[in-house]
Parts: sequence; C-alpha cells; structure tokens
Amino acid sequence: MNLLNYFSDQLDQLKQQGNLRQFTSSHQHDRYISIHDHNMLNLASNDYLGLASNLHLREQFFDETPNAQRWMSSSSSRLLTGNFPEYEQLELTLSDAFHGRAALLFNSGYHMNIGILPALADSKTLILADKLIHASMIDGIRLSSAKYVRYRHNDLAHLSQLLCKYHEDEAFERIIVVTESIFSMDGDETDLAELVRIKKQFSKVMLYVDEAHAIGVRGERGLGCAEQYQVMDDIDLLVGTFGKALASIGGYLICHAIIRDYLINSMRPLIFSTAQPPICMAWTDFIFKNVLNLKEERQHLQQISQNLQQAVQAKGFDCPSTSHIVPVIIGESNKTVAKAQALQAAGFYIMPVRPPTVPQHSSRLRISLTAQITQTDLDQLTQLL
Ligand SMILES: *Cc1c(COP(=O)(O)O)cnc(C)c1O
Repeated sequence: MNLLNYFSDQLDQLKQQGNLRQFTSSHQHDRYISIHDHNMLNLASNDYLGLASNLHLREQFFDETPNAQRWMSSSSSRLLTGNFPEYEQLELTLSDAFHGRAALLFNSGYHMNIGILPALADSKTLILADKLIHASMIDGIRLSSAKYVRYRHNDLAHLSQLLCKYHEDEAFERIIVVTESIFSMDGDETDLAELVRIKKQFSKVMLYVDEAHAIGVRGERGLGCAEQYQVMDDIDLLVGTFGKALASIGGYLICHAIIRDYLINSMRPLIFSTAQPPICMAWTDFIFKNVLNLKEERQHLQQISQNLQQAVQAKGFDCPSTSHIVPVIIGESNKTVAKAQALQAAGFYIMPVRPPTVPQHSSRLRISLTAQITQTDLDQLTQLL
C-alpha cells in the first residue's frame, strides 16, 4: 500500500469542503498587495502602523548599523554563547518603558505562549482561560500539567464565579487566568481594569494577558491596552509580539525578576532553541523606540477604526469590534467566500474566515486596518459591503 494515500485522501476531503489551505505568492508595496498581477488595497495585514513597508525607516536603520554589527545568526541559545549585547539592550529598553519591571525575549509569540505556561503551571495549578484565546496559548496549556477550565468569551462574571468555586480548593496552589487584550477574530477587547479588580480579590491568582494585537497600537506611547487602562503593574505576566505593529519578529514578557529567572531555568523553547539573530534584536529595539512617538498614527488608526465599525453596523451587520480589527459577520461560509472574492476583484484584499477558526455559522470577512489606510479608501469599501 502506498503510504501517501491516506494523506492525499485527507487533502481531497479538505478541498471538497472548501477548507484546503495553500500559500499564495504576493508582492507588497506601501499599503497595496498584488497577487497574480492584480493590485489591491491590503486589508488583511498585521502591519498595523505601516512600519514593515516603510523604506525610510529601513534605510535609517542600516545607515546606523555598521556591517560589523550586522550579525545574521546568534549560532546558539542565549544560555550558551548566544547572548549578544543586542539582547540585553532590547530588554533594557523594554524594562525602561514598562516601569522598570523585568523583560524576557522569545524567538516568536508562538514560542512564548507554548513555553511560559508549561514552565509555570504544574499539577497544583489551575488555568482559567477565555474561550477564544489564540491557538498558541491553547497549545501551551495542553503542554502543561495544569487542570484547565474555560470561561465564556469576555464574560468576567463567569470568570468570577469560577474563581469563587476553585479558589478555596486545596488541590490548587496557584490559579493563572489567561486572556488576550484585543481578540484577533472579533476585534473586541477584555475589560482589563475590571479583570485586575477581580484578580485583587483572590490571593492565588496571577494574570496572563497577550497583547499581540494591542502593542504599538494602544496607549499614549503604544505600550498596549495595559498602558491605556493604567494596569501595567498589575498584570503578572504581560506578553506581546513584535511581528505585528512592531514590524519585526519575536515575543516578550514583562514580569517580576523572579519569574524571569525561573523561566531562564525552566522554559524549554528558550533553553533548547537558537536565539534570534542579533540584527533582528537591533531592528526591534530601533522600531520599538520609534513606535513610542507615533501618537498621530495611533490616533488616525483609532479614528478610521471607529468610522468603519459604525459603517458596518449601519449596513445591518453585527459588529462586536472596538478596535482596528473589524469583522463583517455574514454567517454562511459560501456566501462569505463569494463576498470576499467580489471585494478582491474590486481591489480590496479582504480574507474570509471560516470554521473551525471561528464558531459554526459565524463566517466573516475580517478587515484589518493599518495607519496607512485613508478615510477615502474606507468610503469606497463601505459602498461595496
Ligand atoms: C500572532 C499571535 C501570536 C503569535 O505570535 P508570532 O510572533 O507570530 O509567533 C500569539 N498570540 C496572539 C494573540 C497572536 O495574535
């Protein structure tokens, strides 16, 4: 028997269901993306501040970075010979920005989320997680030996009930509450101030908040929802990624120095993987310092996001979003795919999102705005919705 038959049958099934995933080759410039020579406004990008496509910034960085400092590999884990000064510099920059708390870097947001939770959560730990957290955190929870209970999406009353129920249970020495600040599919957000208020009522609780979609975008200096809602010092494990608004690659954790030391001694993706190239660290440091000053870009993004949310609602769609990620929830998958294709033909690159990524009957167009999009662009788009 041919060993490949099983896999090719599975692929055929996915194709029949309209769920086959494939890479598409694309070219990008400024706020546009072209696929098979068809040029479209890019409304599917995570480059929320438009920095990844900014040639001027790239030139400035390379002008400031002599060739001798352009290390393209660290050749080792940070615990062996890979701990270049660029790592410590970026951690220092982060630590300064986040009120002097400790900072620790990871190769990607995925490494971060599959590494921290298994390192911290043992069988005496209970994890309470929002129903809609990112796959990387779910994988992290699965790799840990903790007991795991989900609370209804963004339902902090439900979370409180679960905390009351489990807090007195002597089987658990620690409870870690895991959530995102801005959620990637609905573009809605957790009430972080309320979350912190609840946490303070329970002595065993630590908060783990992923700001992947908020870092760079929210807060006076772009330090995320934690900055915006003034709870930066109250979130025990504040994580985020550099691959979205920060136009780079990697993940970070802001925490107590003891947690940082503990993770250096226990977190497997940190210990057993070659650290990112030092040049990436230098670039992230350069971008991060720039981002602190991009207040106008953040305000523009906020403004066009609110306008789009209102326009989508005015067209009669449900719109849970309070952010720059704006879903247009259509329901049926085939309709959603057809609508996305029509919008792409009209010059707007918008992706359809279907189950299992989102719940059944909630297929949607996922519009992701960047600071480079203009109100005129959006006016043209909303006419077509
Ligand atoms: C994108 C994302 C990640 C993964 O980060 P990478 O750096 O791309 O691996 C983790 N968490 C959330 C919430 C994300 O949206």
